[in-house]
Amino acid sequence: MDERYYSFSYFCKKTFGRKLYRVALDAHMTCPNRDGKIDTRGCIFCSKKGSGEFAISFDGQQLEKSDFIYNHDDGKEGDYIAYFQAYTNTYAPIERLRRLYTSVLDNPNFQGISIATRPDCMDDAVIALLKELKEKYPNKFFMVELGLQTIHKDSSTYIRRGYELEIFEECMDKLKDLDIHVVVHVILGLPNESKEMMLETIRYLNKQPIHGIKLQLLHYLKDTDLGDAYNQKKEEFHVLSFEEYIDIVVTCIQELRSDIVIHRLSGDGKKDDVIAPQWAFDKKKVLNTIRHTLKERDIVQGKAYEA
Ligand code: SF4
Repeated sequence: MDERYYSFSYFCKKTFGRKLYRVALDAHMTCPNRDGKIDTRGCIFCSKKGSGEFAISFDGQQLEKSDFIYNHDDGKEGDYIAYFQAYTNTYAPIERLRRLYTSVLDNPNFQGISIATRPDCMDDAVIALLKELKEKYPNKFFMVELGLQTIHKDSSTYIRRGYELEIFEECMDKLKDLDIHVVVHVILGLPNESKEMMLETIRYLNKQPIHGIKLQLLHYLKDTDLGDAYNQKKEEFHVLSFEEYIDIVVTCIQELRSDIVIHRLSGDGKKDDVIAPQWAFDKKKVLNTIRHTLKERDIVQGKAYEA
Protein backbone atom coordinates (compact mmCIF):
# COMPACT_ATOMS: atom_id res chain seq x y z
CA MET A 1 0.00 0.00 0.00
CA ASP A 2 1.52 3.32 -1.05
CA GLU A 3 -0.71 5.21 1.34
CA ARG A 4 -1.75 4.77 4.94
CA TYR A 5 -5.17 3.66 3.81
CA TYR A 6 -6.50 1.34 1.11
CA SER A 7 -7.68 3.83 -1.49
CA PHE A 8 -9.82 3.01 -4.49
CA SER A 9 -7.07 4.18 -6.83
CA TYR A 10 -4.62 1.77 -5.19
CA PHE A 11 -7.20 -1.02 -5.43
CA CYS A 12 -7.65 -0.29 -9.16
CA LYS A 13 -3.90 -0.27 -9.84
CA LYS A 14 -3.51 -3.55 -7.96
CA THR A 15 -6.55 -5.22 -9.58
CA PHE A 16 -6.58 -3.76 -13.10
CA GLY A 17 -3.07 -2.35 -13.45
CA ARG A 18 -4.39 1.17 -13.94
CA LYS A 19 -6.60 3.85 -12.48
CA LEU A 20 -10.33 3.71 -13.21
CA TYR A 21 -12.73 6.64 -13.17
CA ARG A 22 -16.41 6.65 -12.31
CA VAL A 23 -18.78 8.23 -14.81
CA ALA A 24 -21.90 9.18 -12.86
CA LEU A 25 -25.20 8.42 -14.58
CA ASP A 26 -28.75 9.52 -13.92
CA ALA A 27 -31.04 6.85 -15.38
CA HIS A 28 -34.16 8.69 -14.22
CA MET A 29 -35.10 6.20 -11.57
CA THR A 30 -37.15 6.98 -8.51
CA CYS A 31 -36.93 5.68 -4.97
CA PRO A 32 -39.40 4.06 -2.54
CA ASN A 33 -38.65 6.94 -0.20
CA ARG A 34 -39.96 9.34 -2.81
CA ASP A 35 -42.69 7.61 -4.81
CA GLY A 36 -44.87 6.94 -1.77
CA LYS A 37 -44.10 3.26 -1.27
CA ILE A 38 -42.35 4.15 1.99
CA ASP A 39 -42.50 7.94 2.00
CA THR A 40 -42.82 10.84 -0.39
CA ARG A 41 -40.30 13.19 1.20
CA GLY A 42 -37.05 11.30 0.57
CA CYS A 43 -34.23 10.99 3.06
CA ILE A 44 -33.90 14.23 4.99
CA PHE A 45 -30.54 15.10 3.41
CA CYS A 46 -31.29 13.97 -0.15
CA SER A 47 -31.34 16.53 -2.93
CA LYS A 48 -34.06 16.79 -5.55
CA LYS A 49 -31.71 15.08 -7.99
CA GLY A 50 -31.47 12.02 -5.77
CA SER A 51 -27.83 12.74 -4.92
CA GLY A 52 -26.88 12.69 -8.60
CA GLU A 53 -25.97 16.36 -9.13
CA PHE A 54 -23.07 15.65 -11.46
CA ALA A 55 -24.64 12.73 -13.27
CA ILE A 56 -25.18 12.44 -17.02
CA SER A 57 -28.73 11.76 -18.17
CA PHE A 58 -28.74 8.18 -19.41
CA ASP A 59 -31.32 5.96 -21.03
CA GLY A 60 -29.19 3.25 -22.58
CA GLN A 61 -27.61 5.36 -25.35
CA GLN A 62 -24.08 4.61 -26.56
CA LEU A 63 -21.79 6.76 -24.40
CA GLU A 64 -18.63 8.10 -26.00
CA LYS A 65 -15.71 9.47 -24.06
CA SER A 66 -16.62 12.98 -25.25
CA ASP A 67 -19.95 12.61 -23.43
CA PHE A 68 -18.32 12.42 -20.03
CA ILE A 69 -18.53 15.72 -18.27
CA TYR A 70 -15.65 14.84 -16.01
CA ASN A 71 -12.17 16.08 -16.64
CA HIS A 72 -10.64 12.64 -16.97
CA ASP A 73 -8.70 13.36 -20.13
CA ASP A 74 -5.95 10.98 -19.17
CA GLY A 75 -8.41 8.06 -19.23
CA LYS A 76 -8.53 5.76 -22.25
CA GLU A 77 -11.13 3.36 -23.59
CA GLY A 78 -11.85 0.85 -20.86
CA ASP A 79 -10.69 3.12 -18.04
CA TYR A 80 -14.18 3.96 -16.82
CA ILE A 81 -16.81 2.59 -14.54
CA ALA A 82 -20.44 3.35 -15.33
CA TYR A 83 -21.79 4.59 -12.02
CA PHE A 84 -25.58 4.50 -11.75
CA GLN A 85 -25.67 7.16 -9.08
CA ALA A 86 -28.92 9.12 -8.94
CA TYR A 87 -31.84 7.73 -6.91
CA THR A 88 -32.28 3.96 -6.46
CA ASN A 89 -30.84 2.08 -9.39
CA THR A 90 -32.42 -1.32 -8.83
CA TYR A 91 -35.90 0.13 -8.38
CA ALA A 92 -37.37 -0.38 -11.86
CA PRO A 93 -38.80 -3.25 -13.92
CA ILE A 94 -36.22 -5.97 -14.45
CA GLU A 95 -36.33 -5.66 -18.26
CA ARG A 96 -35.47 -1.97 -18.01
CA LEU A 97 -32.62 -2.68 -15.61
CA ARG A 98 -31.29 -5.43 -17.90
CA ARG A 99 -31.33 -3.04 -20.88
CA LEU A 100 -29.59 -0.22 -18.99
CA TYR A 101 -26.93 -2.39 -17.38
CA THR A 102 -26.28 -4.33 -20.59
CA SER A 103 -25.80 -1.16 -22.60
CA VAL A 104 -22.85 -0.10 -20.44
CA LEU A 105 -21.44 -3.61 -20.07
CA ASP A 106 -21.39 -3.87 -23.89
CA ASN A 107 -19.64 -0.51 -24.16
CA PRO A 108 -15.82 -0.87 -24.48
CA ASN A 109 -15.33 2.44 -22.64
CA PHE A 110 -16.40 0.76 -19.42
CA GLN A 111 -14.41 -1.76 -17.43
CA GLY A 112 -17.30 -2.15 -15.07
CA ILE A 113 -20.52 -1.04 -13.54
CA SER A 114 -21.40 0.40 -10.14
CA ILE A 115 -25.01 0.41 -8.98
CA ALA A 116 -26.11 2.69 -6.13
CA THR A 117 -29.17 1.41 -4.39
CA ARG A 118 -30.92 0.57 -1.11
CA PRO A 119 -30.76 -2.84 0.60
CA ASP A 120 -34.56 -3.09 0.59
CA CYS A 121 -34.54 -2.81 -3.22
CA MET A 122 -32.43 -5.92 -3.78
CA ASP A 123 -35.13 -8.52 -4.27
CA ASP A 124 -34.57 -12.00 -5.70
CA ALA A 125 -35.19 -10.84 -9.28
CA VAL A 126 -32.45 -8.19 -9.00
CA ILE A 127 -30.04 -10.69 -7.46
CA ALA A 128 -30.83 -13.15 -10.29
CA LEU A 129 -30.20 -10.42 -12.89
CA LEU A 130 -26.84 -9.55 -11.35
CA LYS A 131 -25.90 -13.23 -11.31
CA GLU A 132 -26.91 -13.58 -14.97
CA LEU A 133 -24.87 -10.51 -16.00
CA LYS A 134 -21.87 -11.59 -13.96
CA GLU A 135 -21.85 -14.85 -15.90
CA LYS A 136 -22.40 -13.14 -19.23
CA TYR A 137 -19.63 -10.56 -18.66
CA PRO A 138 -16.95 -12.43 -16.68
CA ASN A 139 -14.28 -9.80 -17.45
CA LYS A 140 -16.26 -6.84 -16.21
CA PHE A 141 -16.11 -5.45 -12.69
CA PHE A 142 -19.35 -5.26 -10.70
CA MET A 143 -20.00 -3.00 -7.73
CA VAL A 144 -23.13 -2.43 -5.67
CA GLU A 145 -23.27 0.63 -3.42
CA LEU A 146 -25.63 0.55 -0.46
CA GLY A 147 -26.75 3.66 1.40
CA LEU A 148 -26.62 2.58 5.03
CA GLN A 149 -25.39 5.89 6.52
CA THR A 150 -25.59 4.75 10.15
CA ILE A 151 -26.40 1.72 12.29
CA HIS A 152 -28.17 3.79 14.94
CA LYS A 153 -31.93 3.53 15.06
CA ASP A 154 -32.64 7.08 16.26
CA SER A 155 -30.45 8.48 13.50
CA SER A 156 -31.93 6.29 10.79
CA THR A 157 -35.43 7.32 11.90
CA TYR A 158 -34.38 10.98 11.92
CA ILE A 159 -32.96 10.82 8.40
CA ARG A 160 -36.04 8.82 7.24
CA ARG A 161 -33.93 6.03 5.80
CA GLY A 162 -36.99 3.81 5.75
CA TYR A 163 -35.54 0.37 6.43
CA GLU A 164 -34.20 -1.46 9.46
CA LEU A 165 -30.68 -2.75 9.98
CA GLU A 166 -31.89 -6.35 9.60
CA ILE A 167 -32.78 -5.57 5.98
CA PHE A 168 -29.19 -4.51 5.37
CA GLU A 169 -27.96 -7.79 6.86
CA GLU A 170 -30.38 -9.82 4.74
CA CYS A 171 -29.13 -7.98 1.65
CA MET A 172 -25.50 -8.70 2.56
CA ASP A 173 -26.43 -12.33 2.90
CA LYS A 174 -27.94 -12.39 -0.61
CA LEU A 175 -24.92 -10.63 -2.11
CA LYS A 176 -22.19 -12.60 -0.45
CA ASP A 177 -22.03 -15.46 -2.98
CA LEU A 178 -22.17 -13.23 -6.06
CA ASP A 179 -18.55 -12.07 -6.07
CA ILE A 180 -19.64 -8.44 -6.35
CA HIS A 181 -17.68 -5.60 -4.76
CA VAL A 182 -20.08 -4.22 -2.13
CA VAL A 183 -19.53 -0.62 -1.06
CA VAL A 184 -21.38 0.85 1.92
CA HIS A 185 -22.08 4.56 2.28
CA VAL A 186 -21.67 6.04 5.76
CA ILE A 187 -22.42 9.65 6.70
CA LEU A 188 -20.21 11.30 9.29
CA GLY A 189 -21.65 14.19 11.28
CA LEU A 190 -25.33 13.25 11.42
CA PRO A 191 -27.22 15.35 13.98
CA ASN A 192 -26.96 13.94 17.51
CA GLU A 193 -24.30 11.38 16.59
CA SER A 194 -21.18 11.42 18.73
CA LYS A 195 -17.78 10.36 17.46
CA GLU A 196 -18.21 7.12 19.39
CA MET A 197 -21.50 6.40 17.62
CA MET A 198 -19.83 6.88 14.24
CA LEU A 199 -17.07 4.49 15.30
CA GLU A 200 -19.71 1.97 16.32
CA THR A 201 -20.98 2.03 12.74
CA ILE A 202 -17.44 1.35 11.49
CA ARG A 203 -16.93 -1.50 13.98
CA TYR A 204 -20.24 -3.02 12.93
CA LEU A 205 -19.23 -2.87 9.26
CA ASN A 206 -15.93 -4.57 10.06
CA LYS A 207 -18.01 -7.66 10.87
CA GLN A 208 -19.93 -7.56 7.59
CA PRO A 209 -18.68 -9.10 4.31
CA ILE A 210 -18.25 -5.70 2.66
CA HIS A 211 -15.45 -4.75 0.25
CA GLY A 212 -15.57 -0.99 0.23
CA ILE A 213 -16.78 2.06 2.09
CA LYS A 214 -17.55 5.68 1.33
CA LEU A 215 -17.11 7.98 4.31
CA GLN A 216 -19.07 11.09 3.51
CA LEU A 217 -19.25 14.32 5.43
CA LEU A 218 -22.86 15.38 6.04
CA HIS A 219 -23.72 18.32 3.84
CA TYR A 220 -26.61 20.62 4.67
CA LEU A 221 -27.99 21.25 1.19
CA LYS A 222 -30.38 23.86 -0.12
CA ASP A 223 -33.88 22.61 -0.97
CA THR A 224 -33.68 19.64 1.37
CA ASP A 225 -35.64 19.17 4.58
CA LEU A 226 -32.39 19.02 6.51
CA GLY A 227 -31.15 22.25 4.94
CA ASP A 228 -34.46 23.96 5.71
CA ALA A 229 -34.40 22.76 9.32
CA TYR A 230 -30.85 24.03 9.66
CA ASN A 231 -31.73 27.43 8.20
CA GLN A 232 -34.63 27.78 10.63
CA LYS A 233 -32.77 26.82 13.81
CA LYS A 234 -29.04 26.84 13.26
CA GLU A 235 -28.43 26.82 17.02
CA GLU A 236 -29.92 23.31 17.25
CA PHE A 237 -27.36 21.78 14.91
CA HIS A 238 -23.75 20.98 15.47
CA VAL A 239 -21.99 21.20 12.11
CA LEU A 240 -18.64 19.44 12.28
CA SER A 241 -15.66 21.76 12.19
CA PHE A 242 -12.76 20.99 9.86
CA GLU A 243 -10.64 19.81 12.83
CA GLU A 244 -13.41 17.59 14.20
CA TYR A 245 -13.95 15.98 10.82
CA ILE A 246 -10.26 15.26 10.33
CA ASP A 247 -10.06 13.71 13.79
CA ILE A 248 -13.16 11.54 13.19
CA VAL A 249 -12.02 10.39 9.74
CA VAL A 250 -8.53 9.37 10.81
CA THR A 251 -9.98 7.52 13.81
CA CYS A 252 -12.42 5.72 11.50
CA ILE A 253 -9.47 4.73 9.28
CA GLN A 254 -7.64 3.42 12.32
CA GLU A 255 -10.68 1.30 13.27
CA LEU A 256 -11.53 0.08 9.78
CA ARG A 257 -10.56 -3.44 8.66
CA SER A 258 -7.50 -3.09 6.46
CA ASP A 259 -8.92 -5.01 3.47
CA ILE A 260 -11.88 -2.62 3.06
CA VAL A 261 -11.29 -0.25 0.16
CA ILE A 262 -11.95 3.40 0.96
CA HIS A 263 -13.76 4.94 -1.99
CA ARG A 264 -14.34 8.35 -0.49
CA LEU A 265 -13.18 10.41 2.46
CA SER A 266 -15.11 13.63 2.03
CA GLY A 267 -18.41 14.98 0.81
CA ASP A 268 -19.36 15.50 -2.79
CA GLY A 269 -21.91 18.32 -2.84
CA LYS A 270 -22.33 20.91 -5.57
CA LYS A 271 -20.85 24.18 -4.35
CA ASP A 272 -23.94 26.27 -5.08
CA ASP A 273 -26.18 23.85 -3.19
CA VAL A 274 -24.23 23.47 0.03
CA ILE A 275 -25.28 25.64 2.98
CA ALA A 276 -22.82 24.12 5.48
CA PRO A 277 -20.09 23.32 6.19
CA GLN A 278 -18.40 25.79 3.87
CA TRP A 279 -14.91 24.43 4.54
CA ALA A 280 -15.88 21.21 2.76
CA PHE A 281 -15.35 22.83 -0.66
CA ASP A 282 -11.62 22.68 -0.29
CA LYS A 283 -11.43 18.96 -0.92
CA LYS A 284 -7.73 19.09 -1.66
CA LYS A 285 -7.05 20.61 1.75
CA VAL A 286 -9.30 18.02 3.43
CA LEU A 287 -7.50 15.10 1.77
CA ASN A 288 -4.03 16.56 2.32
CA THR A 289 -4.78 17.17 5.99
CA ILE A 290 -6.12 13.64 6.41
CA ARG A 291 -2.88 12.26 4.92
CA HIS A 292 -0.76 14.56 7.03
CA THR A 293 -2.64 13.68 10.25
CA LEU A 294 -2.39 9.94 9.54
CA LYS A 295 1.36 10.35 9.25
CA GLU A 296 1.66 12.59 12.28
CA ARG A 297 -0.31 10.15 14.47
CA ASP A 298 1.35 7.14 12.85
CA ILE A 299 -1.99 5.65 11.88
CA VAL A 300 -2.45 3.01 9.21
CA GLN A 301 -5.80 1.57 8.26
CA GLY A 302 -6.92 -1.15 10.66
CA LYS A 303 -4.29 -0.39 13.30
CA ALA A 304 -6.88 -0.36 16.10
CA TYR A 305 -8.96 -3.18 14.57
CA GLU A 306 -6.00 -5.54 14.25
CA ALA A 307 -4.74 -4.64 17.73
S1 SF4 B 1 -32.77 6.34 -0.62
FE1 SF4 B 1 -31.27 7.52 -1.80
S2 SF4 B 1 -32.40 8.41 -3.52
FE2 SF4 B 1 -33.90 7.69 -1.99
S3 SF4 B 1 -34.35 9.52 -0.81
FE3 SF4 B 1 -32.74 8.38 0.28
S4 SF4 B 1 -30.78 9.21 -0.45
FE4 SF4 B 1 -32.41 9.89 -1.84
